[in-house]
Amino acid sequence: MAYTLGNAMIYTGDEFIEKGYVTVEDEKITDVGRMDFFHNRMDRDLNGKLVMPAWVNAHTHVYSTLATGMSVEFHPMTFTEILRQLWWKLDKSLGAEEIEISAMVAAANFIHNGVATIFDHHSSPNHIKGSLDILKKAMVDLAGMRGVFCFETSDRDGFQMNALEENADFYEKNKDSTHSSGMIGLHASFTLSDETLERTSEICDGKIPIHVHVAEGIEDELDSINNHNARIIERFDRYNLLIENSIYAHCIHVNDEEIRLISKKNGFIAVNPQSNMNNAVGIPDLYRFKKNGAKVALGNDGFGFSPAFDLRLLALSQKHLNEDPLAFSSSSLKDTVNASYELAINHLGEKFGKIKPGFAADLSVIDYAPATPITFKNFYDHLFFGITETPINSLYIAGKPVMIDGEIKTFDEREIRKTSRRIADKLWKKM
Ligand SMILES: [Zn+2]
Repeated sequence: MAYTLGNAMIYTGDEFIEKGYVTVEDEKITDVGRMDFFHNRMDRDLNGKLVMPAWVNAHTHVYSTLATGMSVEFHPMTFTEILRQLWWKLDKSLGAEEIEISAMVAAANFIHNGVATIFDHHSSPNHIKGSLDILKKAMVDLAGMRGVFCFETSDRDGFQMNALEENADFYEKNKDSTHSSGMIGLHASFTLSDETLERTSEICDGKIPIHVHVAEGIEDELDSINNHNARIIERFDRYNLLIENSIYAHCIHVNDEEIRLISKKNGFIAVNPQSNMNNAVGIPDLYRFKKNGAKVALGNDGFGFSPAFDLRLLALSQKHLNEDPLAFSSSSLKDTVNASYELAINHLGEKFGKIKPGFAADLSVIDYAPATPITFKNFYDHLFFGITETPINSLYIAGKPVMIDGEIKTFDEREIRKTSRRIADKLWKKM
């Protein structure tokens, strides 16, 4: 299938085209340029709307979708108590039906927010086998998104070899796809025994990247120092787990040496400032990450679905942390967004983040009517102050129109939300 979107403002990643067109063939972009030089048939007139590359979310938890509005007894004094009183209760109650509907609702919400690709960290300890396939079938095969999935291996209730097997099976089945892929999911150092890390190391074999929470709460780092005589990243390194393209989510309490190790081993730190502030666990220090050479991608830890909030909170958190209004510029924002594309490129073997021939046709169409001049130079300022406040009109993923004029085309969203309310009600009563 080939088509051309025309009369659009286009941010290509390398330039800003005031009035341009983009041609898509099958899953990729084949041509982009100015309308002055376009003489073929236009299939969709965008009437001045903005086209830019769709977003990547580098760390999320689709399984938390049905928690919106849920009420549990909640009086945590530490981060671990937040996990025990809320998330570990929820994930234990999830079966196939709840996982599937969480995935469909999450897909709808991500699509409305211009997200094409997610790196999901899944947990459902009482329904492990086949859980990643359920997510992939719903979000990738049906909804049309791209996803890199893993299952959260943890020893919190004893060793579960089947969690590692689920990761390894899914990785194997999806390793050649540009739409879905797998990683080896680990919860966090403080819930993982040496034996489990040993088994994980055998499965990864220095090749399959891990996706793990690192020093989100201070207790994770203290546990590693006190019980394993090493800091978290050093502990993982002992087991040869610092595999290229691994994701280390949070890294709030790591030291410079750990950041340098992550950087040396070509890993990615995924930051999630909204979630961190909600849990009151601290704020990641991007200046320190940058100083030590680490790549930093942007996730949201399952806190909502909108990168607009994440981008804004990221910038605000850094200014607040450093007590400096210049601590995080629009070029730092651009670096974080680009690192997220790089992460997706490395996992899915497709080119993302630019609107250029040969790149994936993952395009976001936004109803942005700038009130001031917009150029390549000030594009990220427009993004920060204006574009992120503007609704996404349409989303194309791998060339497929998954949403047009605010309406999802790949499934019946109304029906999904109705079913979801019914299943969530049943889930909450069961917890
Ligand atoms: Zn997380």
